[in-house]
Amino acid sequence: MALAKKNSAPINVDLKKEDTVKVIAGRDKGKTGRVLDVNRDTGRALVEHVMIIKRHTRPNPAKQVKGGVAERESPIAISNVMIVCPGCGKTTRVGHHVDVVPGGKTRRTRVCRKCGQALDRK
Ligand SMILES: [Zn+2]
Repeated sequence: MALAKKNSAPINVDLKKEDTVKVIAGRDKGKTGRVLDVNRDTGRALVEHVMIIKRHTRPNPAKQVKGGVAERESPIAISNVMIVCPGCGKTTRVGHHVDVVPGGKTRRTRVCRKCGQALDRK
């Protein structure tokens, strides 16, 4: 685990890879996409087809890099996206359901606050 930045509180991120999210603020407001990666240290996530940037690259034959303009996703602040519930299809905040599994341990499941559907596959 990487070290958190100085003077920053730990970010509690209820977002995981493969979640579907909707952008609620910023340049790509209204778009939806699949989460490709989550960075808890920066509080940002990479979302498919969201925040596309153009990277101008020089050809580098040694590394098999072709020149030209490549389009890639760039990380978006997690506060600018909301999770889309697979059950009701609405954007929602994330609740937690705590299950007690045999042995006295607890397991937290993420749930939709609007319809109660579990957001984690089992
Ligand atoms: Zn729901």
